[in-house]
Amino acid sequence: MHDAAHHRPHVLVLGGAGDARALINAMAIQAMPVRVTLSLAGRTRDPGAQYDMDIDVAVRTGGYGGAGGLAAFIRKQAVVAMINATHPFAAQMANNAAEAARLTGIPLLRLQRSAWLPVTGDHWIDVADMREAVAAIGAAPRRVFLAIGRQQLAPFMAAQQHHYLVRTIDPPDPAISLSNAIYVAARGPFSLNDELGQLREHQIELLVAKNSGGAATYAKIEAARALGLPVVMVGRPAAPAVTETADVAVALRFVATACRLKQAHDGAPAERGE
Ligand code: NAP
Repeated sequence: MHDAAHHRPHVLVLGGAGDARALINAMAIQAMPVRVTLSLAGRTRDPGAQYDMDIDVAVRTGGYGGAGGLAAFIRKQAVVAMINATHPFAAQMANNAAEAARLTGIPLLRLQRSAWLPVTGDHWIDVADMREAVAAIGAAPRRVFLAIGRQQLAPFMAAQQHHYLVRTIDPPDPAISLSNAIYVAARGPFSLNDELGQLREHQIELLVAKNSGGAATYAKIEAARALGLPVVMVGRPAAPAVTETADVAVALRFVATACRLKQAHDGAPAERGE
């Protein structure tokens, strides 16, 4: 990074979902005169595959040790604006971001895709969390597709009568052992044909999904609809009251405004390109 770039306003993007990549790519296309740090939790073994790293972005991996640690990073690194583009189910980080913004006084925007809504032909059983999802499957043995990631599989150990198809990006924690399960490691996006094939091959009777929203993982919902299968849909966790958008263009304007305000405050001339 050259010297001029180092003096640009520093924007922190909390990533871990496709929304962060979309935002950073959009900033690059607009040649926004900002310096970006992309913050990743470090859970996925090969996160590079999720981002187009053809732009000047510093990647920082690992937690901050809570909201206080994040606030300390913001102060030390002179971050002027923060975008929380983590996954809608990353509840802890959403709380930490809100608290760190409060502690430091910097503007915070949550960028997340809208939740999916059921359409004609969908048979959703709406539940609030994984424990409710386990109960919703019922007592009788069924063939269940768990498309919920690898971090929240433990509650299903209480219902070992079912046959599970478990699809995750990285292998699940070995401590989670479902006795009657097939594990598949795969990273989306998945096509409708992929999903139809998978559901038919494993004779799936019911899906459990998180309401992540977005296109990359929606095909399984369409496939369930096409086959008339019920979906136990886990709703999003409670989130702090923060300005929110699903629109990358709105997030770009938020960044531009935050940077202009900061430069006006510091008395520095804004670079062209905002
Ligand atoms: P979480 O429960 O909200 O966060 C747990 C802790 O992980 C946070 O307190 C923080 O540690 C650290 N962390 C989370 N996101 C971070 C980020 N972007 N940069 C630095 N540290 C971060 O999150 P999670 O549900 O475990 O998800 C972890 C990551 O995977 C997130 O980045 C999320 O976007 C991504 N992801 C999650 C899901 C899901 O379904 N939960 C699905 C796809 C992707 P400290 O408190 O030490 O700072």
